[in-house]
Amino acid sequence: MKERIYTLISEEALKGRIKEVAERINRDYEGKTIHIICILRGSIFFTCEIARWLTCPVTFDFMQISSYGNHTKSTGKLEMKKDLEESIEGRDVLVVEDILDSGRTLSMLTSTLLKRKPASLKICTLLDKPSRREYHVDVAYNCFEIEDKFVIGFGLDYAQKYRNLQYIGVVEFVEEDEV
Ligand code: IMP
Ligand code: MG
Repeated sequence: MKERIYTLISEEALKGRIKEVAERINRDYEGKTIHIICILRGSIFFTCEIARWLTCPVTFDFMQISSYGNHTKSTGKLEMKKDLEESIEGRDVLVVEDILDSGRTLSMLTSTLLKRKPASLKICTLLDKPSRREYHVDVAYNCFEIEDKFVIGFGLDYAQKYRNLQYIGVVEFVEEDEV
C-alpha cells in the first residue's frame, strides 16, 4: 500500500486560526507568566507558532509521553518517555498538545500534573476529534475540530514522517497502481 496525502487545513488557515487563539490566551493571562509545557514530539511546530504571538512572559518545558506505536490505532498504554526539567508548583501552566483523540493521553497527563500543584493548569490543542472521545478532558483552547481521519503535518506524524509539512493533511492508503 502507498500513502497519498490531501490537504485538510491549509497553511494560511492554520496560521490565521493559531494567531486568533493566541490573542485569546493573551487576554486571559494578562499580568501572568505562562509556563508552556510542549508535549513532544507532535506539538513542536504548534508550540512555536502559537508562542510567536504571545505577548506576556513565557517559559517553556518539554515532556514526552506516548500512547501510540507506529500505527494509527492506540495501543492503550501511556508511557512517560521524558519528564519535565522544572517544578511546576505555583506556576500558571499551559499544556500545548497537537491533537485530542480518545482523550486518554491528556486525561492521564492532567491528573499527573495536578498532583504537582500548579497555580493553574489549562490545555491548548491544535486539533480535536470529538467523535473519538472516550475520556473527559477540559480543553480551554482548541484551534480546529476535525472529523475522524488520521492526520499528519505541522508536527503530526505517520510512522515518524510528514511532521515538517506546513499544512494538516489526511493520509489515505491506496494500492500501488492507483498512485
Ligand atoms: P489520545 O490519547 O487518544 O487522545 O491520543 C492523543 C495522541 O495520539 C496525540 O498526541 C497524537 O500523538 C496521537 N494521534 C491521535 N490522532 C492522531 C492523528 O490523526 N494523527 C497523528 N497522531 C495522532
Ligand atoms: Mg502526541
